[in-house]
Amino acid sequence: MHDVIVVGAGPAGSQTAASLAQRGYTVLVLEEHPQVGAPTNCSGLIGAEAFERFDLPRASVIRGFDSATFFSPKGSSATVGASRVMAYVVRRCEFDQTMAQRALACGASYLLRVRCVGLEYGDDHVKVAAVQRGPEGDEAPMTLSARAVVLATGVRYGLLQNLGLERPSRFLQAAQVEVGMEGVDRVEVYLGREVAPGSFAWAIPAGPLARVGVCNGAGAVPSLKRFLQHPSIASRICEPAGHIKKKAIPIANVSRSFRDRILLVGDAAGQVKVTTGGGISYGILCGDTAAATLDRAFCLGDLSERSLVEYERRWRQEIGVELRVGSFFRRVGGMLSDEQIDRLIRAYHDSDLPELVKRWADFERHRKFILALCRSGVFFQVVWSCFRRSSPS
Ligand SMILES: Cc1cc2nc3c(=O)[nH]c(=O)nc-3n(C[C@H](O)[C@H](O)[C@H](O)COP(=O)(O)OP(=O)(O)OC[C@H]3O[C@@H](n4cnc5c(N)ncnc54)[C@H](O)[C@@H]3O)c2cc1C
Repeated sequence: MHDVIVVGAGPAGSQTAASLAQRGYTVLVLEEHPQVGAPTNCSGLIGAEAFERFDLPRASVIRGFDSATFFSPKGSSATVGASRVMAYVVRRCEFDQTMAQRALACGASYLLRVRCVGLEYGDDHVKVAAVQRGPEGDEAPMTLSARAVVLATGVRYGLLQNLGLERPSRFLQAAQVEVGMEGVDRVEVYLGREVAPGSFAWAIPAGPLARVGVCNGAGAVPSLKRFLQHPSIASRICEPAGHIKKKAIPIANVSRSFRDRILLVGDAAGQVKVTTGGGISYGILCGDTAAATLDRAFCLGDLSERSLVEYERRWRQEIGVELRVGSFFRRVGGMLSDEQIDRLIRAYHDSDLPELVKRWADFERHRKFILALCRSGVFFQVVWSCFRRSSPS
């Protein structure tokens, strides 16, 4: 019998495990793959603030960024900078491994090649049904028990149905590829109907290769193939594209992230920045919150929903408004025409926007910047006035 079994060894799962093990609980992490951190499909950008706040391991950091260049569909661009390092790009597989090493050092245990296939309540515990896959592909069933279970399964929602929990209701599709590319010095973001309707495409320098990707509502792979032909991308590719990988990103959170003895963290709960689809830092934050809530529940001797509702209250207090404002902004952004995006980007340097960026930009928390942007003169001229003109009186 373990105190807690964490299902999934991504950043959210390993942070939860480290935080619980540090408090003296016996923690077992189950990971279905033979290696933590692989396979991976991620751009690996993490806000500088998350490194500070959670003292994240830095061995996997490739470099920091203090600016990004935004490209309009009509070819104009604006470099947006805050004269401080806002985010770091990491080797994602190595990042996950160092997170797991930290949890191991705190006393957590990991079982690899073990897939959780079902959860069932016992009297005072949860029975975890799992399948262990041997190196030859042979499978052996196993049953484990814990007083509480944390599901950190990413975008795999198969375990939720029997628990009466719902998966997030909205997703983006993201596709990414690594290429050799010249002249990518900072994060590049491409907007417009052609590259990614209602969303964005990117090129991120990450060591010898650049990560080039697209996220949108559907059809991310064909969109990425088209984006790779975009003149500013195609002309700089010096090593052909590798294998395109695609994955879903939740952009709505679950309506309920707890049950008796069970919590959801990270992508499993849809704890993702709605604006960009980034989920590493919110997953880590919520993993920490899950551990603190379970600690309190163990001390009270009450692991029922009545006690664990506190988890949902705490994480919504931390990021709930961020998620709502982000969702609003994604809707507004999705309505902008190519013309409006172009006018905003062209107006950037002659407007109050550089000042707003310096003052309010934060890589992980966009609420203050979004609210300041919506009140800015240029946003009013380009966006609100057009909406007002086009809306029926
Ligand atoms: C193309 C792309 C680019 C992205 N770029 C960024 C970025 O730059 N910055 C950012 O913050 N976010 C980014 N994201 C999102 C980010 O990758 C996720 O938000 C993050 O990985 C979520 O962490 P997690 O720990 O919740 O889940 P995951 O990292 O998905 O980990 C879940 C783990 O659970 C395991 N698992 C699942 N089910 C079971 C089971 N039944 N039994 C055992 N193990 C199981 C999986 O194998 C996996 O290892 C990107 C996503 C995509 C698709």
